[in-house]
Amino acid sequence: MTDKKELNIKETFELFKNKKTTPVELAKVCFEKITNLNHELNAFVKVLNSNALDAAEESQKRFEAGNPKGLLDGVPIAIKDNIAIEGIETAAASKILQGFVPPYEATVITKLKEAGAVILGKTNLDEFAMGSSTETSVFGPTKNPHDKTRVPGGSSGGSAVAVASGMSPLAIGSDTGGSIRQPASFCGIVGFKPTYGLVSRYGLFAMASSLDQIGPMARSVEDVEILFEAISGYDPKDSTSLKEEIRNKKIEIRDLKIGIPNEYFAEGLDPKVKKVIEQAISKFKEMGAEIKEVSLPNSKYALSCYYIIMPVEVASNLARYDGIKYGYSEIKNSELRIKNLLDVYLKSRSSGFGKEAKRRIMLGTYTSSAGYIDQYYNKAQKVRSLVKKDFDKVFQEVDFILGPVAPTTAFKIGEKTTDPLTMYLSDIYTIAVNLAGLPAISVPCKKVDDLPVGLQIIGPQFSDFKIFDLAKKYEGVKDGLQGA
Ligand code: GLN
Repeated sequence: MTDKKELNIKETFELFKNKKTTPVELAKVCFEKITNLNHELNAFVKVLNSNALDAAEESQKRFEAGNPKGLLDGVPIAIKDNIAIEGIETAAASKILQGFVPPYEATVITKLKEAGAVILGKTNLDEFAMGSSTETSVFGPTKNPHDKTRVPGGSSGGSAVAVASGMSPLAIGSDTGGSIRQPASFCGIVGFKPTYGLVSRYGLFAMASSLDQIGPMARSVEDVEILFEAISGYDPKDSTSLKEEIRNKKIEIRDLKIGIPNEYFAEGLDPKVKKVIEQAISKFKEMGAEIKEVSLPNSKYALSCYYIIMPVEVASNLARYDGIKYGYSEIKNSELRIKNLLDVYLKSRSSGFGKEAKRRIMLGTYTSSAGYIDQYYNKAQKVRSLVKKDFDKVFQEVDFILGPVAPTTAFKIGEKTTDPLTMYLSDIYTIAVNLAGLPAISVPCKKVDDLPVGLQIIGPQFSDFKIFDLAKKYEGVKDGLQGA
């Protein structure tokens, strides 16, 4: 069989159709890779051998009967462990959810199953998706396949590594402030954060609800697009879901104006990363686009604004983990001498949440408390609308924005764990997109010192398919991404 690492969705479909290989065979190739690689990389926290093989067999029967469901039928996929699969323990990499088996299923999972995809397993993340390195997981850190002493980025690090290492051709991640794009950039794959509201979050364990989006990760833009088509669509179970129909829009690159925000190329951006991003931008110019310098003056406040709004939502969303309703509990711990209900809450939450989760719960509780809400949370909401207005204004002048995904390549494991502020800074170019609810993709450009770098393409609301089209055009002309 052809090496699975080379195959994209359409080629896989052709091979299945022409009986050159089968979904069961492909699933087995993935499991073999997982067996060989996962003990070192720690991308998967749970492998679903028998469920996957059952699904692959069903898919195989459909191909044998000449009746496949569509392009995703029989294609393996990895799912971030903060998305509920009915009957499968889902912990969001937190001790407080250990043992929790969702009695319901995320809409994206239902859609993937309906499309015939084969779910290989659950992937590692930072606890409750809070982080940029996949180091705060109760399952231990995930490693970057390009250099195992480095982080894969986060929080969807497990999904990015599953794809980058060839353990799975496709993965699903979630992005609240960069968690799909930044690990995609660090691992040399494509990751897409959709327009807020286009992919249902029903069944996603909420981190910060006004920012969270589920999105696709794969080796090519085309695969990401196919996966996005399968998981997007209106869902009455998610109150933020939008009804917008935005199928396949094509663009003509000669008609395009592309904005380069000077704020994204200022201090803090690694000069080598800057250089390859500038080279990538020159490719767009060569293809005929007009390149224009633009300004997002309020983007300098985006990180601070995010770190006020996000923890408030985190504190509220994580209040439900009380040591009674879900997963982990100290209720029966005789050594702790639990006295009353409050004691159950306090002791279960104290030992169930990790440091970063606690930091954000405390921060969010403080900045939304009666005495401080006007000073912090309400002010941050105003700044959020200024950040959004900057984009609205720029998108009256240009069709897309180009820039880096992250200021550096993948950093060393442990390098930023003791200093949360430097960790937070790695999302400096991704966070504003979430605050504004926009779509954005990370697509690999040239490497720096053998480490991948992602180019970010940001578009206006609902420009999701146009972004794919533009990113595909770039993929076709870019040079020098060997081996990623
Ligand atoms: N790294 C950012 C944070 O720690 C974003 C996380 C995410 O997108 N889930 O909040």
